[in-house]
Amino acid sequence: MNTTVQFSANTQHYFDLEDKYGAHNYHPLPVVLSKASGVHTWDVDGKQYYDFLSGYSAVNQGHCHPTIIAALVEQAKTLTLTSRAFHNDQLGEYEKFITQYFGYDKVLPVNTGVEAVETAIKLSRKWAYEVKGIAEGQARIIVCAGNFHGRTLGVISFSTDPSSTKNFGPFVGGFDVTPFNDLSALERSLQDKNVAAFLFEPIQGEAGVVVPDEGYYAGIRALCTEYNVLMIADEIQTGLCRTGNMLACDHENVRPDMIILGKALSGGVLPVSGVLADDEIMLTIKAGEHGSTYGGNPLACKVAIAALKVLNEEHLATNAATLGELFRNELKKINSPHVALVRGRGLLNAIVIKHPNPEAAWDLCIQLKENGLLAKPTHGDKIRFAPPLVITKEQVLDCVRIIEQSLKILD
Ligand code: PLP
Repeated sequence: MNTTVQFSANTQHYFDLEDKYGAHNYHPLPVVLSKASGVHTWDVDGKQYYDFLSGYSAVNQGHCHPTIIAALVEQAKTLTLTSRAFHNDQLGEYEKFITQYFGYDKVLPVNTGVEAVETAIKLSRKWAYEVKGIAEGQARIIVCAGNFHGRTLGVISFSTDPSSTKNFGPFVGGFDVTPFNDLSALERSLQDKNVAAFLFEPIQGEAGVVVPDEGYYAGIRALCTEYNVLMIADEIQTGLCRTGNMLACDHENVRPDMIILGKALSGGVLPVSGVLADDEIMLTIKAGEHGSTYGGNPLACKVAIAALKVLNEEHLATNAATLGELFRNELKKINSPHVALVRGRGLLNAIVIKHPNPEAAWDLCIQLKENGLLAKPTHGDKIRFAPPLVITKEQVLDCVRIIEQSLKILD
């Protein structure tokens, strides 16, 4: 295996800056990007790549989508932030648009994904005390083993990944872990009368694109209804057409009580997230009880409407479904002893690498980069493949050829 790569002085300059002046809380692939458009991105030396990470699925609509950028620029010249101390002329329009788009009574807008998860947790606790009638301080939320919902202290409090939790305690209580994709275990945990909600990812993205069995979402819906527990789908990574439907839960025509959205809600332009729910849940939070300075800012509102429109206008769910199937089928045809598994749904896919060298997935990503495709390992031996949903059939086939060629480095 030979993954020794020389970097230009220009590239090295940017590595050195980040290394010296930035916290070391990430381990990026050694590439410095300076430009992107659609499915492509370019490094500071002008080399072109396919982007197979899409900003962790934030760039579903493709980089710098002209419609979204036009909305951003127009609004940026007009009004960017009022805070929620005052009304603005974009927020209500956005709230009407997104609630009609997804069919919920109300939205609570915030910024990053993890803030939206925190918001959903707070909403479910309020609902538990004020609607369900659980005694104050007793509410429990069931979460899944292997979950990833972000990085705040509240959210890592129920992570089962030691790299998220080690030496960050003490943690927030009130969470119980159940195995993912196990309806019997979920039902056992729902026996506790103090359970307020079940929070889950429809597909566990960070865990390596773990797709549950058919019927899991419908089963969760039935159990949550039976036990009067809120079903909260974190669709931050799986939503907005990524898996071949507008929402991953749509695959089983299931309507969660709360949906958490982020990432592609702005098409990768700025942090925009939110929680959708009906009045019975949403109106439990009153004025002054929750918020964020930038949440619902006019710039975000305008951009989010444009980003949502693009998803429908360009039929990105259908594209993700069709090309995702093609991609998986073509990957499965690659005759490599190093690919243990190909899995995914729509254009959220992963391969599991089988190799005696524990660094093999990283080495393969380096080789993919050399061959013009950017992807990142997750949890050591898995590589996620999640290109922008505007990718074409020819580009998918080109990328499969790159992957096939690059795999030879592991021989
Ligand atoms: N939830 C899921 C399912 C995610 O995949 C992520 C990020 O990868 C988050 C929440 C956190 O989003 P953010 O990084 O915007 O806080």
